[in-house]
Amino acid sequence: MSVELSVVVPVYNEEESVPELYRRLTDVLAGTVASYELVLVDDGSHDRSWGLIKELAAKDLRVKGVSFSRNFGHQMAFTAGLDHADGDAVVIMDADLQDPPELIPDLVARWREGYDVAYAVRAKREGETVFKLVTAATFYRVLQRITNVNIPVDTGDFRLMSRKAVAAFRRLGEHHRFTRGMVSWLGFRQIGVPYHRASRHAGESKYPLRKMLRLASDGLTSFSYLPLQIASWLGGAVSGLASVALAVELIRKATGSPLAWSWVAVTGLALLGGLQLLALGLVGEYLGRVFDEVRGRPLYLVQETVGTTATPHDATKPVAS
Ligand code: UDP
Ligand code: MG
Repeated sequence: MSVELSVVVPVYNEEESVPELYRRLTDVLAGTVASYELVLVDDGSHDRSWGLIKELAAKDLRVKGVSFSRNFGHQMAFTAGLDHADGDAVVIMDADLQDPPELIPDLVARWREGYDVAYAVRAKREGETVFKLVTAATFYRVLQRITNVNIPVDTGDFRLMSRKAVAAFRRLGEHHRFTRGMVSWLGFRQIGVPYHRASRHAGESKYPLRKMLRLASDGLTSFSYLPLQIASWLGGAVSGLASVALAVELIRKATGSPLAWSWVAVTGLALLGGLQLLALGLVGEYLGRVFDEVRGRPLYLVQETVGTTATPHDATKPVAS
């Protein structure tokens, strides 16, 4: 059965936000599209989130639920939602109402104009710590400079994708997923829509520093080889410096000055050792990811579904578009 719009939402311990999310989404969508469905993906919550999703699905046939066998992460939940969405267009957004449902009509309008991707650009952010604001702003700008794909700055995952873009996205089988970068990589006709990012509706962020850093390094390593190249540049620079220092010392020795090398040797060795470990570590970051990809495990595992049939992602076979 075809629907005009699917809205995919990852849910991880969001029992306080799910009812309000449902209310605001249904309010907005009724007047925006002819038909819609909500695809709520429970990412291994420990609270009542999945119970609430099942209750919603029981009373509203437009609600589909997918629950993971464990916590696979926000990015994987988007992937599962996109795999289960049947809409002619699909919106992906967070459950905590930081991505306002009221922006969906603007995204849909862009799609009707013929765009394949309409991504929401944060013009203003509310209720975030200074630390988050500064690190996010820096990260997006560094990423923009060093990646080979044009990933727009100040843009999260909140966006609308046409069926064509979703079909293409489903063919990307990588395990380390940085959705916003992957969608930029797709190409097609894309456009930004500015919005005001609200603070969380309830509860606390489900993105501790650890998960934030992992997402950031997935973004960097998936779309740039620059960190690997840093090693060769540093190597070149350090050996150049060392040759100059050696030449200077030989000249000094020839003119009869005494050698004062011990401290230079100690600090120099420490510096070199540090640089070598750094370079090795960077190679390791990429190598570990290569190993994850080569193993070819499924991207996620589904425990239970409501209102939809499970189509576990098979990363080895591209889904027909
Ligand atoms: N989320 C998830 N799995 C996780 C962590 C978060 O599905 O392991 C969901 C969460 O429920 C929310 C969205 O991802 O819908 C964004 O998380 P959060 O709002 O905590 O991140 P922040 O806005 O603080 O960066
Ligand atoms: Mg949030």
